[in-house]
This record gives sequence, structure tokens and C-alpha cells, in this order.
Amino acid sequence: MAEANTLSGNRGLMVEEPLIFEMGSPGRFGIDLPEPPPLDLDRLGGCRRAGPVGLPDLSEPQVVRHYTRLSQKNYGIDTGFYPLGSCTMKHNPRLSEKMARLPGLADLHPLQPQATVQGALEVIDSLADWLKGLTGMPAVAMTPAAGAHGEWCGLMAIRACLEDRGQGHRRRVLVPESAHGTNPASAALCGFTVDPIPAKADGRVDLAALKAKLGPDVACLMLTNPNTCGLFETEILDIAQAVHEAGAFFYCDGANFNAIVGRVRVADLGIDAMHINLHKTFSTPHGGGGPGAGPTVLSAELAPFAPLPFVVHGPQGFTLVEHAADTPESKPFGRVKGFHGQFGVFVRALAYIMSMGADGLRQASTDAVLNANYLLARLKDDLSPSFAGPCMHECLFDDSFLKDSGVTTLDFAKALIDEGFHPMTMYFPLVVHGALLMEPTETESRETLDQFVAVVRGLAAKARDGQAEEFKQAPRFTPRRRLDETLAARTPVLRWKPPAG
Ligand SMILES: *Cc1c(COP(=O)(O)O)cnc(C)c1O
Repeated sequence: MAEANTLSGNRGLMVEEPLIFEMGSPGRFGIDLPEPPPLDLDRLGGCRRAGPVGLPDLSEPQVVRHYTRLSQKNYGIDTGFYPLGSCTMKHNPRLSEKMARLPGLADLHPLQPQATVQGALEVIDSLADWLKGLTGMPAVAMTPAAGAHGEWCGLMAIRACLEDRGQGHRRRVLVPESAHGTNPASAALCGFTVDPIPAKADGRVDLAALKAKLGPDVACLMLTNPNTCGLFETEILDIAQAVHEAGAFFYCDGANFNAIVGRVRVADLGIDAMHINLHKTFSTPHGGGGPGAGPTVLSAELAPFAPLPFVVHGPQGFTLVEHAADTPESKPFGRVKGFHGQFGVFVRALAYIMSMGADGLRQASTDAVLNANYLLARLKDDLSPSFAGPCMHECLFDDSFLKDSGVTTLDFAKALIDEGFHPMTMYFPLVVHGALLMEPTETESRETLDQFVAVVRGLAAKARDGQAEEFKQAPRFTPRRRLDETLAARTPVLRWKPPAG
């Protein structure tokens, strides 16, 4: 296909947008304000600005167009299919958004007297009840602000508990090689050393290798279930038993909870601590960097070490326990966040849970697994599934179907962009070569999945037919093509400077 160059740099109605600073023209205004009265300069303590602030001067229509165009440059779950494995990019119901925007919830101040925010504390308490009920776990720390933060919170509770037992020498954390990068990072941040455990050929943890690594210096195992290959760890009961027999704790990365809600009681698996990504499983718009929330459920043994603050329900209503002195029966390891946690995300999660109901939540996880298996079944002959058999909520392929085609996983993903689909997760998990990890979620229709299947199969056929050159050109229809990602990461240009002269 010929290169489409236009005089303007625009592509169709996709408009090339300069920085707002580059568009300003001194003296142009969108509003007409009277000259301010002269200031009493003495009150500024000598901090009076010597020159202009340097903000761009624009008219109102320029500003409106600028921000409207920028808002259209985003590809999100509201614009199209987003099968980014491990991220659970599902539809976020508008009802939850509406609840989070209710003035009585959205306009609260975290320092308001507790008597005036009893309803908000009840929201936190009710959500905590649901999370305990869905996992069967006795306690939950609500304040972590993300999945990674929840991991760190769980590990801090484990560390505090070990130190309390006089076992502070337990400093080694076992992490499967397929784990999300946040797992070893959280362990390292907690002062633990990370020891990897290999996977078996079927994509699951190698129990024998795990047992061989257990010892008196092991603090815990961090296991993801279902794991990042989209597989249920079928030996999880034996894993839990082996870990506990060695005197260690069992931390579960619960980011993939969406696959098992209402079907698996986490407590029955022998798990001591697990974070839940509310923004993934219980539906909050994410992918733009937050906010999210990572409440961490805890066993009875770890519960006393949960961080402050937490909500308790007493005869006087709901109370937020803020200080260790107010909770002599427990031993909080500290605080992980200012204030109460990500309250807006709590409201969305509770609204989602209550509108779905227990039966709806179970249906959602069932459908999430069904949709992933539908993709797997329809793509398995054209792509190369990494492991035999059905999957959980996401299906994993490696790049062997691209062998000798000259096309890489990266090229394949870029070609998907031209077709109007957000690419799947690429090159993760690391345990398979050139991974392509697809998570359709339960909210996609059969029609959308069929369109996606047709495109992926078509691209696979092009790769087989030796059309590598076309893949190398992709993406062709985006405002920017292939960026130098390394340069952008190493030398980011974060500040606009006025042109010289
Ligand atoms: C998303 C994810 C995390 C990290 O969660 P954040 O909310 O992004 O911090 C950890 N583990 C797995 C398996 C995940 O998918």
C-alpha cells in the first residue's frame, strides 16, 4: 500500500495536534476580565513575579478543540476491544460511575468528623464484608491503592508476624518464574531476597522443585492463581501443605480473581494472604495509571498485623481506628496510605458487586472463562497455543506459528493496531517464547470475538504467506508509527521550552 502523505499531516479526520503552548498567540483571550485593582505588594513578602507566567494565550474555541481532540486520541475499553492479558480490561458499568459521582460520596473530605461520614464508613465496611465473604477469609486490609501495593501490604504483614514469632531470619521469598514483575519487586522492597521456582512443561509450578527450595529461611511463597499462563494451579492444595509444613506463609497474587469469583473459596486453598485488584475484578476504569485499589485479605494469624486505619462496627456506629493505641488487641505494622484508601474505587466496586449480586458475580467469572476458551478454540489451529487443554480467563500463545515468517510478536501486535484492535499482552509471561496473552473478559459479545478471530486468523495467514514486509510497515494508519521506545524511555522530553530567539 502506498504511503499516504497529506499536506496538513492530518489523516482523515484524525488531526495532528500541537502542544497548547505552541498554539498560543500573545494577547489572545477567551475571556474578558476587568483589570484587577492594584495589589498591596508588601503582603507578598518579596515574592512578586518579575515576568509573565508564560501560559499560552488562546481563544475559547481553540481550547475546546484542543482538549476535545486530545480526548479522542485515547484508545480505551469504551472505544473498542482491549484483550490485554492479565489486565482484565472489561466494560465498566455506568451505574457504578454514577454512584461514585453522587455528591454525598464524591464531595466528602477525608478529615471530616466521623459522625458526619457514617454512610461512607458503611460503604467501606460493606465492601470489606463482601470481599471476606467471596474469599472466605476472616480479615481484609482495605487501604492498599493497587495490586502491587496489596502485595507489599501482605508481605509486610507476613514479615511483622514472623518477627513477632521470633523468626525474623526467614527472609527468602519463593516466586515462580511466570510471576508478574510486581511480585519479586514487592518482595525486594520488603527487604526479602527473591528465589525463582521453575515451571513444569504444562505451565504450572513444579512442586518437586518448590519442595527442594523450602527451608527454615523461607518467609513465604508468592503464587498467582489462576497463574499468568491462564492456568489453574491444580496442585495448589499440595503446594499450600508443603509451604505450611516448612513453617512459611502462602501469599497468593489474586489479580486474576475475575476467573474464579463465586466458584473457588480462596480460604479453602490454604492461602494466608491475597490482594484483590478491585479495578480489574470489580470494575473501575483503569489502564491510564490509576487510581485503583488492592485490598488484601488475611488469615486469622496475619489479621492482627493489618495496617491502620481500619473500620470497626460498634454500638456507636462505624469507627475508623487510626492509632495503634486505640487497638490494644492488635499489632498493626503501620500505615500504607494516607487516609482511608481509594474511596471512589470502593464505591464503584460495591455498586458493581451489589448490582451483579452473588449469582451475577459467579456468572461473570464463568463467562470470562468461557470467552477465553472460545478464543483459544477458534485460534488454536492458526496460532500456537503454549499449553495443551482448556484455559481459565486468558489464553496464551507463543510465537512458534511465526517461525521462519520474518514476523515477530511485536510486528503482529502492530498490525492489530491498524485493524482497530488494542494488541494483546506481548512477551509476558516470560516462560514462553514471544508470548501473546489474550484476555477477552466476560463483557465482550460473540460478534466482537468473531471479528477479532477473523482478523487474527487473517494476519496469521499473511504471515504464513510471506508478507513480512507489510508487517514491518505497521502501524500505517496511526498518527505516529513505530516510536523509538528505548530513546523515549531513556531520554524523555517532559518539558516544553519556548523556541530560542
Ligand atoms: C495487574 C497485576 C498485578 C499488579 O496490579 P496493579 O494494580 O497494576 O499494581 C500483579 N499481578 C498480576 C498477575 C497482575 O495481573
